[in-house]
Amino acid sequence: MRLRSSLRPCALVLATALITACAATPTATRTPIATTPAAPPQVEVPVIKRPDGETAAWWFRHGAAEAARRGSTTAKARNLILFVGDGMSLTTVAAARILAGQRAGQSGEEYRLSWEDFGHTALSRTYNTDLQTPDSAGTMSAMATGVKTRGGVISVDQSMKRGDCTGLAEGARLSLWELAADAGLETGVVTTARLTHATPAATLAHVPDRNWEADIDTPEAARTLGCIDIAQQMIANPHGHGPTVLMGGGRVNFMPASQTDPEYPEQIGRRKDGRDLIAQWQQAHPKGSYVWNNAQLAAAPQDAPLLGLFEPSHMQWEHERNASPEGEPSLAQMTRAAIERLRHNDKGFVLLVEGGRIDHGNHNGNAFRALKETIAMSDAVRTAREMTSEADTLILVTADHSHSLVFTGYPDRGNPILGLAANKDAHGVTKPTLAKDGLPYTTLVYANGPGHRDAAKRPDPSLEDTAAPDYLQQALVPLEAETHGGDDVGLWASGPGADAVRGNIEQNTIFHLLLQAQPALRQSVCARYGCTAEGVPVNLPQSH
Ligand SMILES: [Zn+2]
Repeated sequence: MRLRSSLRPCALVLATALITACAATPTATRTPIATTPAAPPQVEVPVIKRPDGETAAWWFRHGAAEAARRGSTTAKARNLILFVGDGMSLTTVAAARILAGQRAGQSGEEYRLSWEDFGHTALSRTYNTDLQTPDSAGTMSAMATGVKTRGGVISVDQSMKRGDCTGLAEGARLSLWELAADAGLETGVVTTARLTHATPAATLAHVPDRNWEADIDTPEAARTLGCIDIAQQMIANPHGHGPTVLMGGGRVNFMPASQTDPEYPEQIGRRKDGRDLIAQWQQAHPKGSYVWNNAQLAAAPQDAPLLGLFEPSHMQWEHERNASPEGEPSLAQMTRAAIERLRHNDKGFVLLVEGGRIDHGNHNGNAFRALKETIAMSDAVRTAREMTSEADTLILVTADHSHSLVFTGYPDRGNPILGLAANKDAHGVTKPTLAKDGLPYTTLVYANGPGHRDAAKRPDPSLEDTAAPDYLQQALVPLEAETHGGDDVGLWASGPGADAVRGNIEQNTIFHLLLQAQPALRQSVCARYGCTAEGVPVNLPQSH
């Protein structure tokens, strides 16, 4: 990418020189003028005492500087797609790649998930401003707003305390999706989790507590101070014409308690304020379609807005998913439906696609589902790359944070990734490696979580089917839910601006890698909030 773009001007100069030479005296020789690409803009970042001196403005400028000095402002992307594998640690990626390969009849280690063929990678540091090991709300807020913030908050900065709505007007930070909508681009959000869950919420909502998904979750005191529940903010975002595509689960957060769920009549809406947010969306989008199953999705026009709410809570695991007309789409099918509707705008689009349940599989201590959800995200990324051009669409694939899944032992090449760590002996017989307690162990284990067996002696995993969908890998520390990990996650990039994705970055820089690579969006932000002389957006966009 870098090589090609620096060669192209030279080739042009050479061609021009040759034509000129032919037109003038045949003996004239011309030396092509050497064109060195302009040095990337340097942004001064104040030296502060950390962490005490960190502010939202400082984080924004720091992220802008990290992206600009890698050359993001020279890119000309039209469309921006951010894929977030929630909780997709590098270990999860490595194990999922092997499972996918083994299911395709290969040894597995050589298999490549779709984004592993992208030419540009970086490592992303995921800590929150107040947590060494982060949560999804703070991490997605960093990627959505360009500003690192506290754990548990949704696109508000660290000036606010979790659960306290005081200072919302000053603390709310505009997201890339809102800035894009203001610039006239199309925007969309797709997830397999509830649409009101932390990661999707951070694209369109601003609240100091990720749990305020519906009105009944939002304390009266917070509502008095102006905090609005996440579902309402997702449906009625005031920027531009709002999102064109919203797809995921979490249906009951949008329905009043007087309504029964269309798919599960025993369930009712969660809203106590009587608001029917689905009807409200339909009134605001008279040509749009509200869908809640595959048949309705297939029938919805591709040139109109789409609201898809496929489950009362999170969507089904890919492993259990009902793919029939009455069932629900895969992440790849939702990605396809989103791009079909967003690509009609010549200005371009900004799309979030979240593989939301990789995280849930890991929290449950259930590697099988975490890996299957990761493979489903690989299919979704492949769909996006096939439907768009590398010439005009920047695709970033990353995770919001890591998990405690570990991949250890010395199993043979091709050993089943969900099996016991095992090797062939001199007679070609595969035998599990025995630990000091005389028992075998699985290649994949968790450092903590529900997989801890409450027994004096570790149970023998060879007595269980470790590849079964519901098997919980053994865990060292007993916890009800397995925890996130604090290690770096991967960032993979393809398309214009991808060559700026390198080195080790702070997670909030991902916002700037996207923003700076889209000229119309960058210019719109510069016009509203100011930029450096070289056109780098370094000022915090103010929402009030
Ligand atoms: Zn989580």
